[in-house]
Amino acid sequence: MKPIALYLHIPFCRRKCLYCDFCSFPGRPGDFSPYLVALQRELAARWNPDWTVATLYLGGGTPTVLPPTALAGLIRAVQAVAPLQPRAEVTVEANPGTVNGEGLAQLRAAGVNRLSLGAQSGDNRFLKRLGRGHTTDDVERTVALARQAGFTNINLDLIFGLPGETIDDWRRTLQWAIALRPEHLSCYGLQLEAGTPLFRMVQAGQVRLPGEEEVSAMFLANTQILPAAGYEQYEISNFSRRPPPGTAKSGTEGDGDYRCRHNLIYWQYGDYLGLGLAAVSTLANRRITNLDNLAEYLDAVQRGVLPTATEETLSRRQGMAEMLMLGFRLRTGPDPAAFYTRWGVTIDETLGNAVQPLIDAGFLRREAGSYRLTPRGMLLSNQVLAKALSPLL
Ligand code: SF4
Repeated sequence: MKPIALYLHIPFCRRKCLYCDFCSFPGRPGDFSPYLVALQRELAARWNPDWTVATLYLGGGTPTVLPPTALAGLIRAVQAVAPLQPRAEVTVEANPGTVNGEGLAQLRAAGVNRLSLGAQSGDNRFLKRLGRGHTTDDVERTVALARQAGFTNINLDLIFGLPGETIDDWRRTLQWAIALRPEHLSCYGLQLEAGTPLFRMVQAGQVRLPGEEEVSAMFLANTQILPAAGYEQYEISNFSRRPPPGTAKSGTEGDGDYRCRHNLIYWQYGDYLGLGLAAVSTLANRRITNLDNLAEYLDAVQRGVLPTATEETLSRRQGMAEMLMLGFRLRTGPDPAAFYTRWGVTIDETLGNAVQPLIDAGFLRREAGSYRLTPRGMLLSNQVLAKALSPLL
């Protein structure tokens, strides 16, 4: 049986945040039930009986705008078709204030063992500027309720580089998050996306984003403050609490390894099946993207047609470039043995002379038969990787 990552997209949110360009929109309760039925039909249509689920991830959107009983029912229905590996990681994304203690207990009872909370900032001024529908109190309350419900693996999503944010503001957010003792922290820089209300506000001069230097200082603060508080940076933007000394990392619940196994499968260029609106799958060298219009998606699935918008076969060069691009996001860099097994050539043979100038400039270093981004390289990862991978692009 081949282990894969399974992603289910729930596009509904309570309201649209000002910076968001994800496939998400305020959910109408009348859409919930048909959508859940469609997800199950799509799963049945796309599932390969040779697969097994290593990780299940319900993301969005805000999955917890659906009633917890509906989410629990969905997870059970998934398992009837797609068997979960013993101790599979099962994550549900939630926004603070959208789920209560009873709902969290229902999710836990349904097998959810990882909760990912969209906290975003430890300062209510910034939450308001982002158009988030919650406060820091809601985050603190939801974390406490999740602990009471038995969650031992909680992630907080945070965003830095917010309108008007200073390095001191961001340091305070990090300290606030650390005090909540999550097992995992994702810290992403704000991406200003064209077409969003925030983009228009910035264009019109109504709000100002921090400059490049200040944003770089925020990124470097992550790499200093979080390790000092016991978090290991295992990916450019992701930090997990270090396991207690002497604990072996085996990637199973309760073993002290809190890296996100679902995302590790993406970064290691493993296979994943994405279901639902606008979901993306990569299976061997096939890339499938689903329709992103709800009515069209529902109509296709109801007619027994796969809701595919685009499907492409990645070339060998594209596949190699993607595997390296994703692998470089990891602190340990791309895995040289996995790369060789997949493509029959080494990373060195593939990148040739492109890496040496980047090593000389302090952006990359060679370690354990592979290359890793240095902290400076991580800061400029897009430019550095474009140069490193130039033989493939
Ligand atoms: S909650 Fe998340 S998905 Fe929903 S609108 Fe806000 S940022 Fe987008």
